[in-house]
Amino acid sequence: MSIPKSFIDQVLDQTDIVDVVGRRLPLNKKGSNYWGKCPFHDDQKPSMAVNQDKQFYYCFVCQASGNAINFLREYENLEFTDAVETLASSLGLEIPYEKIEIQNESDYSIMDEAVKVFEKQLKESKAAIDYLKSRNISGKTAKKFQVGFSDSKWDSLFSSFEKKFDEKVISSSGLFLEKNNKSYDRFRNRVIFPIRNIKGQNIAFGGRVINSDEEPKYLNSPETKLFKKSNELYGLYEARKETKKMDSIIVVEGYMDVIALHEKGIKNAVATLGTAVTSNHLSKLMRYSNNIFFAFDGDLAGEKAAWKALQNVLPIIREDTRIKFVFFESGDDPDSFINKYGKQRFNELINEGKTLSEFFFSQIKKIDDINTLEGRSKIASYASDLIRVINNTPLKEAFISETSKIIGIPIEKLLSKRPLSSLPGFASRREVEQKKAHQRISKKRTASIYLIIHSVLKDRSLVKDPVFDQIKENSSIAFLKELREVIDEQTDDLISKLIERIKSNALKELFSQAMVSEIEIEEEDAKKVFSDCMNSLLKEEEDREELLKTKYNTGSISETERRELQQLILRKPEIDNEDKKLLKDLSLKKD
Ligand SMILES: [Zn+2]
Repeated sequence: MSIPKSFIDQVLDQTDIVDVVGRRLPLNKKGSNYWGKCPFHDDQKPSMAVNQDKQFYYCFVCQASGNAINFLREYENLEFTDAVETLASSLGLEIPYEKIEIQNESDYSIMDEAVKVFEKQLKESKAAIDYLKSRNISGKTAKKFQVGFSDSKWDSLFSSFEKKFDEKVISSSGLFLEKNNKSYDRFRNRVIFPIRNIKGQNIAFGGRVINSDEEPKYLNSPETKLFKKSNELYGLYEARKETKKMDSIIVVEGYMDVIALHEKGIKNAVATLGTAVTSNHLSKLMRYSNNIFFAFDGDLAGEKAAWKALQNVLPIIREDTRIKFVFFESGDDPDSFINKYGKQRFNELINEGKTLSEFFFSQIKKIDDINTLEGRSKIASYASDLIRVINNTPLKEAFISETSKIIGIPIEKLLSKRPLSSLPGFASRREVEQKKAHQRISKKRTASIYLIIHSVLKDRSLVKDPVFDQIKENSSIAFLKELREVIDEQTDDLISKLIERIKSNALKELFSQAMVSEIEIEEEDAKKVFSDCMNSLLKEEEDREELLKTKYNTGSISETERRELQQLILRKPEIDNEDKKLLKDLSLKKD
C-alpha cells in the first residue's frame, strides 16, 4: 500500500513547519526565519533556520535540511509513511492508502490465509474455546481480534500452504521452521493472536499455550519484511477503529491484557510485542493521543520496563503530552485486575499513576543515599546524564531546577557539556567538519547560485532556458542542471515538495541555503537576475581555464589543478590542436 502523491501534497500544504519543529524545540523569530538550536549536531548556538514562508528548515552548521516530513523522519527516526501519518493525524486527516505494491501482495495474503485457518481451527477445538472462556473472553471479542488456534499437528499449516504459495513467500512468512530439510509449523497447540499494523493488515502472529506447563508461554513471529517489533503495537489498529481521536492510550505488556480490557469496555489499550517500549513506539503513541499511560506489573521487571520507557521518551517528549506510569500490586496485571475489580476501579488506578516527573524523581532517589554528600553527587551526575538528552527546553529547565532542589546541588554546570544526542539524524563534530570540507565555494559564487535558484522559482519557465545547456557536465556548477528535473514549469509545486525531488547533495545543500537566505526577487526581475548570474558563473568557469593555463606555463600548477585543467579541456565540445597538445603534455608530465 502506498500514499497517493496528492495526499502528501495536501499534508505538506496544510502543515505548518514552524508548528511541527516548534512543538519539539523552542524557536525564536529573527528576520524572516525562526531560529533554534539544531538537534542534529552538537551546538549551543541557534544554527537552525525554519522558514515559514517556504515551509523549510536548514542548519547552517550540519546542513540538515528539508520539509516537515524530513524533519520528523530525522527527529523521531520514522519511516516516510510514518512521518506522513504523524502529520496527517495532527491535521485530523486519514491517509487514503492505495494498493500498488504488487510484489508484496502475496506476503500479505499468506498472512490473511493463515488467519482464516487459525480461526477455523479455533472453532474445532473445544480445549481452546474453553481456555478463552476461562479467561472471560467472549466470542464477540475473540472475533474482533480474530483470535484463532493452531492445532498440535506439526505441519497442519505447512501441508496446505505448500501448494498454494511460493517457496520464497513461505520461507519469509515467519510461519514455519525448518529442521533436517523439513518444514514444520512454528505455532502448534497455541491460541493465536494475529498482529495487525496500523492499516489493519495482518503482519505477524503471537501464540499462547493453553496448558500452563508448556514452554514458552508466549511465542511471537520472528522479525520479517512485514513485521518490525520495535515499531508495532498490538491493538493499536483495533483501538483506532473504535475512536479516531483517542483521549488516552494505555500501554500494557501482553495481548491478553489488551483483549481482557477490551472485553470490559476499555478499548484504548495497546501492547508492545515482547520488547521494551522503544522511541518508535513512543512517537507512534504521541501521534494518536496526548495522554499516554504505561501500565506495568508492580515487580522489579515492571519497574525496569517503565524506566526504560521513560529513558526513551525523554529526547522526544513534547509539552503537550502527558505521560503516567501505573504499577499493579505484585501478582496482578491489567487482565487479572479488571476481572477482579471491574472497569471503574481500573480507571481510578490508572488516573492515580505517577507523572513522568514524579516517576523520574522517585527513581533517581533510589540511585544512592541522598543523606550523604557522596550519594547526592552520584545522583547528580546520574540525573544530569538523563536530563541532558531532553530536547524540549522548558521541560529541561524544570527538570534541572527540580533536581537541583531535591539533591541540594546545582546541576546546570554538569549539563554544560552536551554529549552526543540520541537523535537518529545526529551528526558528530567530525562528520560536520567532513561535510563542510566538501563545499568550499566563494561567497560571490554562492550568492549567484542563490539568486539563480530564487529566480527560477519565481519564474518557472526559466528551467527551459537554453543557457542550462552551456553548463558542462564536469563543471563545478553542473548540479544546477538538475533544476530542470526538479522544477516543472507547468505546475506551481510547493517549495517544500521540490526539495524531495533533488537527488544531488550539492544542489540540495545550496537550494536549502537559498530558501532560508533573506533573498527576495520580484517576478519581473527574475529573468534578468537569472541570466546575469548564469553568465557570470559561466564566465568564471572560462576564466578558471585561463588561470590554470597560466599556472601551468609558469610551472606553478599543483597536481589537483593539473587534473582540473585536464577535465576542463576534455569537457569542451571541440578540442582544438593547441588544447590537444596541452592535454598530451599534461598527461605525460608526472612529477
Ligand atoms: Zn545542525
